[in-house]
Amino acid sequence: RKQFPKKTVERRNTGYAVDVLLEAAPFTMGGDDFNFCKLIAGSEGTLAFITEIKLNLVPLPAKEIGLLCVHFNSIDEALRANIVALKYKPTASELIDHYILECTKNNIEQRKNRFFVKGDPGAILVIEFSKTTREQITEIVSQVEAELRTISLGYHFPLLFGDDSKKIWTLRKAGLGLLGNLPGDDKAVPVIEDTAVDVYDLPAYIREFNEILKKHGLYSVHYAHAGSGELHLRPIINLKTKEGNRLFRIIAEEIAALVKKYNGSLSGEHGDGRLRGEFIRQMVGEKNYELLRTIKRTWDPQNIFNPNKIVDTPSMNTMLRYTPGQQTPAFKTIFRFYNQDILQHAEQCNGSGDCRKTHLSGGTMCPSFMATRNEKDTTRARANILREFLTRSEKINRFDHKEILDVMDLCISCKGCKSECPSNVDMAKLKAEFLQQYYDSNGASFRSKLIANFTKSASLGAIAPGLYNFMVTAPGVSTLVKKVSGFATNRSMPTLHKTTLRKWWQKHQREKSRATEKQLPVAGYRLPGTGIRKLYFFCDEFTNYNDADIGIKAILLLERLRYEVIIPNHEESGRAWLSKGFLRHAQGIANKNISMLSPLVNAATPLIGIEPSAILTFRDEYIDLADDDQFDAAKQLAKNVFMIDEFIASEIEQGNISKERFTKEKRLVKLHGHCQQKAVSSVGSSVEMLSLPENYKVEIIPSGCCGMAGSFGYEREHYEISMKIAELVLLPAVRNQPPGVIIAAAGTSCRHQVKDGVGRRALHPVEILSDALL
Ligand code: SF4
Ligand code: SF4
Repeated sequence: RKQFPKKTVERRNTGYAVDVLLEAAPFTMGGDDFNFCKLIAGSEGTLAFITEIKLNLVPLPAKEIGLLCVHFNSIDEALRANIVALKYKPTASELIDHYILECTKNNIEQRKNRFFVKGDPGAILVIEFSKTTREQITEIVSQVEAELRTISLGYHFPLLFGDDSKKIWTLRKAGLGLLGNLPGDDKAVPVIEDTAVDVYDLPAYIREFNEILKKHGLYSVHYAHAGSGELHLRPIINLKTKEGNRLFRIIAEEIAALVKKYNGSLSGEHGDGRLRGEFIRQMVGEKNYELLRTIKRTWDPQNIFNPNKIVDTPSMNTMLRYTPGQQTPAFKTIFRFYNQDILQHAEQCNGSGDCRKTHLSGGTMCPSFMATRNEKDTTRARANILREFLTRSEKINRFDHKEILDVMDLCISCKGCKSECPSNVDMAKLKAEFLQQYYDSNGASFRSKLIANFTKSASLGAIAPGLYNFMVTAPGVSTLVKKVSGFATNRSMPTLHKTTLRKWWQKHQREKSRATEKQLPVAGYRLPGTGIRKLYFFCDEFTNYNDADIGIKAILLLERLRYEVIIPNHEESGRAWLSKGFLRHAQGIANKNISMLSPLVNAATPLIGIEPSAILTFRDEYIDLADDDQFDAAKQLAKNVFMIDEFIASEIEQGNISKERFTKEKRLVKLHGHCQQKAVSSVGSSVEMLSLPENYKVEIIPSGCCGMAGSFGYEREHYEISMKIAELVLLPAVRNQPPGVIIAAAGTSCRHQVKDGVGRRALHPVEILSDALL
């Protein structure tokens, strides 16, 4: 038994826990009742197939949770302080080191969770206390702080409660994935990922650990469960090189010996699996290892349960993702991939599986997996197939593989992964680039071209909108049109407004000039000189042709709020081209829009838009697409482009718009957030804008994607999956609302999905605000 980890090692695997089983009766007099669960727990599916589990629950923690986030100059200081903190019986003590903190600086989602970080600490220890009242927590925390200050450990001691503590745990949890985000081929490698030792041995163990790494010219990331003596340790190694592959093995061997020295466990959490299995013999000794093999053979004589894990495991550096010394060509892409190429971006996926969330976990990523529950439809599968073919294809155009197309098919380009994947794998970007490269060898379908050319067909239709609308709505004719175009026959098609927003705008301008001459009132318009600010309105193609009424309401609202609104000359947004992967065409549009709008738009005269998928292209794809000589202009322009919700929310904050102008009527608004708004901006501004009328209450529907995703939900073979995604949360939530409740959705596709799925009209947030204006 001495060969197994020390009893004080709280987290451990190290083969089957025979030593723990032996502590029970009849092997140990007076021990617990014999229970095979002690053996099966941690056996990693190698012994049995479990069909039913009875859980022994532990009480919930006390109501109040407080996090003391102590800042240190070094990891060593943090680990010594950890031992002091444990005397006060915290419910958790978790480490975040400076490498992780550095990664969170560049992560869109995590940047906002860094609010409590002061300076550039070498490490932060997050010490959690759970008590009945905040006062009790404050009391105990002041004792911890006093003791640590006495021994000169720690320089900043913020204590956080409520939503703030949730943000800190989110930041901590994101750490593992964020490491996959390191640019280039040097990656934080999970080779000695979860070694665990007695918590009192942890500072000395980590010191020796770092000396070993230093000897090999390496350094490591350290984070997580300091309170349990288990830190996640990932040395930074380039596994694509022969030297990296050699170091991968050497580090595993030397750290295994170090863990043995401290009588710890080579794996404290994730399991021995394929990686640590090879070292179990060294950990528990020859005799015990043979006993483990006998147990495996007895429980699983045919070796069918998760074979070759824990025992009889092949060498840890076989069957690796990268072949040492592998060469891949330079990939010329239309999108800009900063400090990396498209393959390296796909390789950012570390397989953590956060994209396998169900709709019950909340968030957007990944709607197609949420609906099908098929691994093929995860972000991970898409990253994996792209990586596989870009690495091993023998074709000149390595993108030219139907297999990639098939796996990409259900990616609806919602961008959920761009912000929610801890490694920021941006699959919408990868898919668009892949499609362009695939078209280069295979051409594009008629339907893809038709959808991408939306602006052209809409502009033709706008010559006679009545006829166009008849074609897409009259029962027999519309069915024929949909069949020929490859759209689902049971999906309603978007119709054109009787005028375009641009035509209305020109008429409105004429009316305004006449009014100015004669000093006459015009709806919503104030005479020149009375406006407080000039701004540009982006007349995107969807608002111009389909939702002109919303555009009109938005402009009139702004004018009544004393803004001078101008629709400048510009091109379409290019969203339809982007969504179908016609990147070269989208790049041309982006460059033109940047040239046309850069001279006009600045902090004083911003550009605002109402359709999130269109206006946010300026802040997202345009920067990745702009020609090199337009790059700086694109970045500058992006700083002054806003969704109308963001603009109004900021004007409310600055006191330029006040609630007195709006109704005092009581209304409940249920808001569905647009996926791209959530990924590139946030729904916070929509909530703030809609909460302006004094008695308006806004509740966010915890929906992910609506499932329509531009043209996806219209396409014949995608209709069902589109409805399935919508039925996960959004449509049932809308169906449950009584008639007086307002349904808000900023996206034109989202509103269409609600109309088709529930038969109810959802409103753009700006329409709601416009209706509330007195
Ligand atoms: S794509 Fe999925 S598995 Fe890959 S890193 Fe992102 S969340 Fe994890
Ligand atoms: S863009 Fe959306 S659908 Fe595509 S992989 Fe990412 S989360 Fe999934």
